[in-house]
Amino acid sequence: MPELPEVETTRRGIARHLTGRRIREVRVHDGRLRWPVDPGMAATVTGQRLLAVQRRAKYLLLRLERGTIILHLGMSGSLRVLPQATRRLAHDHLELVLDSGQMLRLNDPRRFGSCLYTKADPAEHALLRKLAPEPLGPDFDAAYLHAAARRRRVAVKQLLLNGQLVTGVGNIYASEALFRARIRPQRRAGRLSLGDCQRLVRAVRAVLALAIRAGGTTLRDYVGADGNPGQFRQKLYVYERAGRPCRVCRTPIRKLTQAQRSSYYCPSCQS
Ligand SMILES: [Zn+2]
Repeated sequence: MPELPEVETTRRGIARHLTGRRIREVRVHDGRLRWPVDPGMAATVTGQRLLAVQRRAKYLLLRLERGTIILHLGMSGSLRVLPQATRRLAHDHLELVLDSGQMLRLNDPRRFGSCLYTKADPAEHALLRKLAPEPLGPDFDAAYLHAAARRRRVAVKQLLLNGQLVTGVGNIYASEALFRARIRPQRRAGRLSLGDCQRLVRAVRAVLALAIRAGGTTLRDYVGADGNPGQFRQKLYVYERAGRPCRVCRTPIRKLTQAQRSSYYCPSCQS
């Protein structure tokens, strides 16, 4: 599943091909996504200029002159910028043809992705309105995390993953951030000190920034968002390394299951 770094990598990859371009044509080959593509969208969007490509959590926002296309890649979606005559493959759902001769194509075999259009401020859209702060944004800081974790009995890893406190920190990145912050994933959230929260916020930001940079190195003019953390996998300290020696202290990495998700930690580096 594409996580925040893959979505941000996708955003950067497509933005330079889209920004400033006018949409010449919208081709909906198969509108059966998580929500059916509005049959009226093509007519509304055609002729509009793309002003910017933004991201909120794992949503990509294509800002147009009179509205916004809200895209989500779901479980298996990917976006590519290709010459407009490129042959269609299975699961190509829709294409935005640009005045540059290129097109943006959405492919999504499992159809959990979505493509919606809104004329209103996208921040007020029902899907985006209640999202927790961005992990790379200014609202996610140690004081905020400390206040949110206080008196919570849930494990800190689950708190990071549940989406109510911070948005877009997936399983890989939560495990890696906890390692960097030297906090065990099963530690009760209410037991985090302000200092722990400072280290954890810094670690979450650092891990995501590294992952985005690693994604960026493999990127040309398209992005395969297949849930593979790309080059970042070589930089992992604990994730899927159970039984292998810790890269810092050589102690074997341990694995445990929390809420049906695998967690990994070093029993010596993390407490
Ligand atoms: Zn260690």
